[in-house]
Amino acid sequence: MVRQQLRATVALVLEQRRHYAIGTVFVLIGIAAGLSYPLLVGRLIDDGVTAGSVERINQLGMILLGLLVAEGASNALRDYYYNVAAERATARLRRKVFDRLLRLEIAFFDGEKTGELTSRLSSDVPAIARVIGDELADGVRFLVFGLAGTALLFYTSFYLTLLVMLAVPPIIIVSSVLGKRVKVLSSQMQQAFSESGAAAEESLAGIRTVRAFSQEAAEGHRYGGKIAAALALARRKILTTSALSGLSFTFAEGAALLALWSGGYLIARGQLTSGQLITFVLYAFLVSRGFRNATAFYADALRGLGATQWIFAMLEREPAMPIEGGHRLPQVVGAVDLEGVRFTYPTRPDTRALDGIDLSIRAGEVVAFVGRSGAGKSTMLNLLLRFYDPDEGRVALDGHDLRELDPSWLRQQIGVVLQEPVLFSGSVADNIRYGRPEANDADVLAAAELAAARGFIERFPDGFETAIGDRGVQLSGGQRQRLAIARAVLRRPAILILDEATSALDSESESFVHDALRALDYGPTTIVIAHRLSTVVNVNRVIVLDHGRIIGIGRHDELLQSCPLYRQLVETQLVAV
Ligand code: ATP
Repeated sequence: MVRQQLRATVALVLEQRRHYAIGTVFVLIGIAAGLSYPLLVGRLIDDGVTAGSVERINQLGMILLGLLVAEGASNALRDYYYNVAAERATARLRRKVFDRLLRLEIAFFDGEKTGELTSRLSSDVPAIARVIGDELADGVRFLVFGLAGTALLFYTSFYLTLLVMLAVPPIIIVSSVLGKRVKVLSSQMQQAFSESGAAAEESLAGIRTVRAFSQEAAEGHRYGGKIAAALALARRKILTTSALSGLSFTFAEGAALLALWSGGYLIARGQLTSGQLITFVLYAFLVSRGFRNATAFYADALRGLGATQWIFAMLEREPAMPIEGGHRLPQVVGAVDLEGVRFTYPTRPDTRALDGIDLSIRAGEVVAFVGRSGAGKSTMLNLLLRFYDPDEGRVALDGHDLRELDPSWLRQQIGVVLQEPVLFSGSVADNIRYGRPEANDADVLAAAELAAARGFIERFPDGFETAIGDRGVQLSGGQRQRLAIARAVLRRPAILILDEATSALDSESESFVHDALRALDYGPTTIVIAHRLSTVVNVNRVIVLDHGRIIGIGRHDELLQSCPLYRQLVETQLVAV
């Protein structure tokens, strides 16, 4: 899995190769400068200071100054190119994942929380950006420092290098033992913090219930408990990391001290010059910093990539149902047939949502589905819109199996008004145009008029340009539904699907279906999920569903006689509203 992510990350980096290539030139300049200092400083001591040559001191001083400026500038340019490349790469990645999500089958969203999807998109991606930005440049630089620096150490003094190497095994042992512990504790801490976050989100999302039951103190206590658990883990993690850094410091500095000590001894015996000792010490610092940072980068990169498994898995995921492609009918009449349809939601394999449905709806007919909660009414609509395919049997439009038709073309032939219509940020006009952005103002006005929405829209100060949502007007349930009707009829669909609200019981939405039916001056096939008596008495046929089967079809008055469940529904739920 990690290998696959690594490959995907490399592909991401290669897409931005121009930026990375320029950045890498500056990385190389930085490396060359970094590796030259110790040698030049050593020379400055031996050829300049010890030999007493002011001219040489000035000359080497100028070279060092030039190198310093070059390194500073190339570090800045390197950071610029690497970070811009990383942001470009991750912006593309975000876009790709989002596009992929938009195209995935509806069944996928049954198994996922949308909040989790969006938070992953916003939190996982920066982890990748960090790994492939200036941290990557630093990782490479420090690795080269470590490797080349070690070679130069041996070149400067073989004996001293061996001595310093004594510190390496204890550092490796300590950091691998304590490092493992830190890793475990950090993931436990992460888990504890995300649990506390979830607790906070639950309390705040349900603030009305919390307030109504006066549970503020209890919720605060619950959150406090989670935070305390996370804090305890954080303390243990900090203790371990502190011990780790203390011990590594002691070993590393101990080795350096040992080198100085025996270096001094070697100088006194004339086997080493002071310049060489300084070169040696500076390289030793470079090497230890190099390996420390390179391993830190490696660990960070692994952790970063581990956190982003989901993103890369998402990129690989193929939609189980395509959103376009297939046959398009030259003309749509609007006849709908369901033949022997059986369907079970993939996320609820134990319950059959539709269990043998045979139904023919004529073009231009107005039918209503009724039934108890969970009877399968919405599932019928889901299959008509081809959000899912039936497990058995077929759903057909004008005699053509929906599976042969182009899904996005099919959906253009259907207008949908759901119980709780979703409106998007933007103006009222934008929302009516959703699905047909090219519609002109006159069409939008006509659609609003048909849906009995024009009156209230024109009473807003900005009329059709009024913004909807957070910073715009807040609409009532009935107003939202009317906008949704206007949005649906603007496309003049051959089939109109209306899901009547059960909860918005105000007088405004009372006439919802009537508004919609009045809007249909061209007689499309209309399918209503009905919850009101006023609706069922006005349709051509009522279809009674129970446990995923049709148990009665007919006019309202016929069904009152022939179908006991229908009578019961009318007496209880339907009449009640
Ligand atoms: P209501 O009037 O309450 O909306 P309904 O008649 O529309 O009910 P459906 O939504 O079609 O009923 O549900 C039929 C069955 O399928 C129920 O058992 C329901 O729990 C299940 N179901 C509905 N939607 C899903 C889904 N997205 N994932 C899994 N199971 C579902």
